[in-house]
Amino acid sequence: MTTNKSKVVIVGCGLVGSSTAFSLLTQGVCDEIMMVDINQEKALGEVLDLKDCVEYLNRNTKVYQGNYEDCGDADIIVITAGAPPRQGQSRLDTLEASAKITRSIVKPIMESGFDGIFLIISNPVDIIAHYVQILSGLPKNQVIGTGTALDSARLKNFIAELIHVDPRSVYAFSMGEHGDSQMVPWSAVTVAGKPFYDIIRDNPELVGDVDLDSLVMKTAQEGWEILNRKGTTYYGVATTAVGVIKAILHNENRIIPVSTLLEGEYGEKDVYCGVPVVLNRTGASDVLEIHMTGQELTRFKESAKVIREYTHKIMEF
Ligand code: NAD
Repeated sequence: MTTNKSKVVIVGCGLVGSSTAFSLLTQGVCDEIMMVDINQEKALGEVLDLKDCVEYLNRNTKVYQGNYEDCGDADIIVITAGAPPRQGQSRLDTLEASAKITRSIVKPIMESGFDGIFLIISNPVDIIAHYVQILSGLPKNQVIGTGTALDSARLKNFIAELIHVDPRSVYAFSMGEHGDSQMVPWSAVTVAGKPFYDIIRDNPELVGDVDLDSLVMKTAQEGWEILNRKGTTYYGVATTAVGVIKAILHNENRIIPVSTLLEGEYGEKDVYCGVPVVLNRTGASDVLEIHMTGQELTRFKESAKVIREYTHKIMEF
């Protein structure tokens, strides 16, 4: 009998990694989940806890602890190992520590013969995703960062709450850096096809005084709103990552704003940026180029510039 199992590896079994594994397991997304952490006892503890779920789920997913040499047959490797920002630190402040951790992970994974798709969650995610692409030598479609996928979910929540609709009926993308410089191309935001600008015009009593710039700021700051209250964030990004993994493993061609290497799209080159991407079994298969206004494009380019500057810095560590 030939088997065609789907295997997802989670590297880093902290709050984000274990939540991602839990979400994968409860949604029955893949056949196998392999957990890897520098702290082997932590990885084993998570594995034992996760295995206890299977009896009451719809699917018998195999969950086990492994090492980098067991990564050769993985379809997707999710990297969540890293140093989460402490109070007062920006995501970019964690760059040096994350660079060192990333180097120690990617080399042994590539030595295992891995030729699947890397999904990077570790911050600063755009820069680490680019670093992994360089370190691994894999084609750009095989190295993806979660980018602004989580920010876009937050943005859609805020818009939906304003106009009292399901956030999944809102088409809106936050783009650029997963960080303070991200931007929203408001001219392309629609609700079930109706431009958001028309909704503002037609519903002055509901959204007439909405301040779009502060909505973008609120989106960028939402992580801190959570962190200031509970110390860190994990459920949102874990579920976001599983959305991306489903799109890849199930060959969905779903468009999600993730971080990918731009090669001329939006007039940008050699920078990993959050943009709408078609996701399927090949990974990041295509970039959707939204038509932006001149002002929106300027903002996008400013955000790309921030990422590019830090990407150059990571090479120095
Ligand atoms: P955590 O401290 O709970 O877990 C990190 C885990 O990584 C720990 O279990 C640690 O032992 C492990 N680790 C450290 N060095 C390692 C190495 N060299 N090899 C293997 N494992 C190693 O942190 P967390 O809250 O899970 O956050 C993880 C990362 O995710 C951080 O970089 C954080 O900033 C990022 N994050 C990203 C987003 C996003 O939207 N992209 C959202 C939230 C968190």
